[in-house]
Amino acid sequence: MSLIKVGLVGIGAQMQENLLPSLLQMQDLRITAACDSNLDRALQIRRYLSDTPVFDNVPAMLDTMQLDAVIMAGPPQLHYEMGLLAMRKGVHVFVEKPPCATLEELETLIDAARHSKVVAGVGMNFKFARPVSQLREMTKAEEFGDILHIQLNHYANKPRAPLWGLDSTLRSFLLAQAIHTIDLAVTFGKGELQKVQSSVQRHDDALIVKVEMAFSSGATASLLAGTTFPYFEFDMKLVSSSSTLVELDNLWNITLHEPEHATRPTGAAKRWRGAWQPGPLDSGYERSGYHGELHQFFEAMRKPQRYEADFASLLPTYHVIEEICANDAAAQGKQNIQSKIRTGIESLSL
Ligand code: NAD
Repeated sequence: MSLIKVGLVGIGAQMQENLLPSLLQMQDLRITAACDSNLDRALQIRRYLSDTPVFDNVPAMLDTMQLDAVIMAGPPQLHYEMGLLAMRKGVHVFVEKPPCATLEELETLIDAARHSKVVAGVGMNFKFARPVSQLREMTKAEEFGDILHIQLNHYANKPRAPLWGLDSTLRSFLLAQAIHTIDLAVTFGKGELQKVQSSVQRHDDALIVKVEMAFSSGATASLLAGTTFPYFEFDMKLVSSSSTLVELDNLWNITLHEPEHATRPTGAAKRWRGAWQPGPLDSGYERSGYHGELHQFFEAMRKPQRYEADFASLLPTYHVIEEICANDAAAQGKQNIQSKIRTGIESLSL
């Protein structure tokens, strides 16, 4: 496959701000069509690529154009339904996160990708961000030892209401935001996900979600996430069997703490630490992972080989999401029963 012909679907903010600028830098790739149910949005593609054919529905685009791949950035219902259609037609599919709303739908996507033998991928850009790749390399070194614990904080201030026509703000938050951090816990936890415990605190329409995960590697992970925070912040700490602690701050700075940290000027001494950060000229798309995820997706199509962030890679993440929602529904059900009992007792004692 020398020249890859790509159709874009959902010409909104994410496509125009992050995916398209990365795609326009790639060689041997041609954007041959654009589609948005809002035709004015679809026509905005011509700000970047004049004369691109536009469509207001995906089936028409797939029937008219000979496409090798589609890249979609819309609601999960679009990713799911049109992802299935494209795969059935033998077209490779890359969708933004979330690929779908439930674990059951994810299993259907996994089956469809397997049957159609196409490369399928999800825009899990945190996983491909430069500092995370750096961290993955660092933790592979023998001296780093085994990862014992992962601490993740994902502070957000939205969504405070359900998204995409779903009926749950909690599920919307997990699918829109925490999906990245849960995926990082799975990525660094290694092995099989064995246990999930979770609780959800509510304050007005804001949430605080606490999750504990355990993996067959022996590693554990704790996640504090939610929408009660003033703005988006993300940090992660890993501690290893060699007593090394490494911190990642906002997909930007990495700080490495070792029992003894040796550098040429300091010699081997305690309480020194090593730091890494992207260069000041690192392009934003490289650093944030948008370029890396798309580059690896097209590489997987060319080879062909499995793409790391495929639908199947998200199975443990969706298991965690379902478990958090189920635990919360059970806790809310219990609370409702308790409050009904309290009201009953109060009315009896009147
Ligand atoms: P948006 O509303 O700006 O754009 C979505 C576009 O999809 C709209 O133009 C809409 O008209 C179009 N659309 C909806 N249904 C359609 C259909 N059936 N057929 C064709 N087009 C359809 O939203 P956005 O902020 O660009 O977000 C899009 C996706 O990108 C979401 O899934 C979101 O979770 C994801 N996203 C990912 C990141 C990230 O960092 N990975 C960041 C932001 C958004």
